Amino acid sequence: MKTVRTTCCYCGVGCGILVSKDRQGKIMVEGDPDHPVNKGMLCSKGMNLHHTLTDDSDRLLFPEMRYGRNLPRQRVSWDAALERTAAVFTAIIKRHGPDAVAFYASGQCLTEEYYVVNKLIKGFIGSNNIDTNSRLCMSSAVVGYKMSLGEDSVPACYDDIEHTDCLFVAGANPAWCHPILWRRVEAAKAANPKLRIILSDPRVTQSAALADCHLQIQPGTDITLHHAMARCLIENGDIDLRFIRYHTEGFEKLQDTVMVRTVEEAAQLCGIEAEQIREAARLIGNAGAFLSMWTMGLNQSVVGVNKNLSLINLHLITGQIGKPGAGPLSLTGQPNAMGGREVGGLSNLLPAHRDLNNPQHRREVQEYWQSGPIAPQPGLTATEMFSALREGRLKAIWLLCTNPLVSLPDVRMAEEALKQAKFVVVQDISNRPETLAYADVILPAAGWTEKTGTMTNAERRITLLEQLREPPGEALPDAEIICRFAQKMGFHGFDYKDPGEIFREHIQLTKGTNIDFSGIDYALLRRHRSLQWPFPEIKDPAAEPASTGSSGRRLFSDHQFPTASGKAIIHDVPDDNDSEKTTPEFPLILTTGRIRDQWHTMSKTGKVNKLKQHIREPFLEIHPEDARRRSIRENDLVEVISPRGKVRVKAKLTTTIKKGVVFLPMHWGKQKDNDLLRANNLTANVVDPMSKEPDFKFTAVAVHRY
Ligand code: SF4
Repeated sequence: MKTVRTTCCYCGVGCGILVSKDRQGKIMVEGDPDHPVNKGMLCSKGMNLHHTLTDDSDRLLFPEMRYGRNLPRQRVSWDAALERTAAVFTAIIKRHGPDAVAFYASGQCLTEEYYVVNKLIKGFIGSNNIDTNSRLCMSSAVVGYKMSLGEDSVPACYDDIEHTDCLFVAGANPAWCHPILWRRVEAAKAANPKLRIILSDPRVTQSAALADCHLQIQPGTDITLHHAMARCLIENGDIDLRFIRYHTEGFEKLQDTVMVRTVEEAAQLCGIEAEQIREAARLIGNAGAFLSMWTMGLNQSVVGVNKNLSLINLHLITGQIGKPGAGPLSLTGQPNAMGGREVGGLSNLLPAHRDLNNPQHRREVQEYWQSGPIAPQPGLTATEMFSALREGRLKAIWLLCTNPLVSLPDVRMAEEALKQAKFVVVQDISNRPETLAYADVILPAAGWTEKTGTMTNAERRITLLEQLREPPGEALPDAEIICRFAQKMGFHGFDYKDPGEIFREHIQLTKGTNIDFSGIDYALLRRHRSLQWPFPEIKDPAAEPASTGSSGRRLFSDHQFPTASGKAIIHDVPDDNDSEKTTPEFPLILTTGRIRDQWHTMSKTGKVNKLKQHIREPFLEIHPEDARRRSIRENDLVEVISPRGKVRVKAKLTTTIKKGVVFLPMHWGKQKDNDLLRANNLTANVVDPMSKEPDFKFTAVAVHRY
């Protein structure tokens, strides 16, 4: 029996897992009792991971290539596939410049994979055209943290759940989307009856069942709600004047802004009672420690950054940050969205949270990489890449470990874009993604447990994922594919002997920065199971703490923030919502999201029968009154229409959704020739102007019985 320690490859909670393989090749998965995040627990998705390892029927096994769109693809050798790809990229770059090519990667990539792709395109190809599906998930939180705290650093940690007495869950359903974290919340509430939970969500979710105060707000009114809560806190005298004075800037402007609307006016806009807002503010004001958690309800919005800032304001005016049980704790959707941020794997970032627009930062990275000059202008973001492909500005795209033809907004536009592309490379583990139909080159990648590397979860915790088995066929680890390609392009600096060498190179770039974890290496991770950053180099090995990984560490406990003044910035953001407007033709607001037992575009969880038992097919949640007006009954087939497309699914009538709002799960893609199950046929390609994160939570739609 061989057993390795790894991390779950699904959500950003980052549960530790033990995976074993016996002599007959049978694979078993169990929660790691020694991992500080989950202490042996796993949710339904994690518990069923072994099924994804024992069924290789959909795996891509060999590189394939075709010489023309109308020609069939043929199996080729790795050398042939990578040499042709290098030749095409070189020709495109020569003719149209480096910005004519792009890499679109994933928050499921290992940090080492992210690192080499980022290094390749920014340092050697000479373009910043790398973005990942993390853009769709947490980029609004990144900008929010940088603007308010001066650094993209999540201040709180999971242990704060056990230390808080007031938790505000904003625009999230962790009971389904971050289940193990939610079990910690449930346990904390059971252990401490004084713990109060506030939750804002237009739907009554399973998470709402635990809330003492559920604010069932109108989609898009989060900032109005947060401002009204701030107003109540100020009026009640529940703010920390000393903290505001010595550790923040901008309070006076916020005070003026939040006083513009009465609590009653705010409540009316939010579609809730004024007393509920007052109650929520009282719970925060009375709390010894106040913690908040949020995900896509705030981030995936055309005003996502402002939503983040208005929530962080609540911590800054109450001084609830940098102490046990307190602080903002954004949850990541993807398992390694945080690792991607560390290596600078977005089109506007550089390694170790350096800024692309800072000449000194560019110089530091360029010198370290011994590369060509790093371009100062940001590259194309996720949605911009597909617009640029469609318009012919971008010629070639390399899709790595993600399926944009399910996950991008206005997905039919993305489909059109791939049709227009001159050259498409798809690097994936599965033969299921819709993107394969457009691929000129297919590169089979190794999957979870078939390679070694690291991931960082939502609380800055790095865990090593060890290899258990060989990849099937000729599949290779993603980092190795990228490095082989870089060498075919004639670039130096990509001949790593193993992923540990990539990690060592990566951590040196963090040295001396705010996120410094130059003291971490694979050996230390093996000894301690997982470690949180910052973690500077330990000068004296004898001084290594005995149990570094077991308890959570929070940031900013000295109340010093890495801003120009050393103070956190309170932003008096407007409470407008610039989302698509409803009209008489499209009168309902569509919000999209996850269900409990599926993961993203279902390329793994969709293979597991057990996980299909929970919810077998997509559905439209609609309030009975909205349904009655349209003569829609339970399980009727309904058509949901937006200016961009339509979806046809069964109706699920429920009073758990707010009147005027409908909900569709985001997981389903094309099923054979039926593309009417994809929620993103409907969503609009509109993004937050600062974070460039799309607005998946507010689409104007019409619904009728089919
Ligand atoms: Fe995996 Fe997230 Fe479930 Fe943990 S909570 S087992 S990380 S899907």
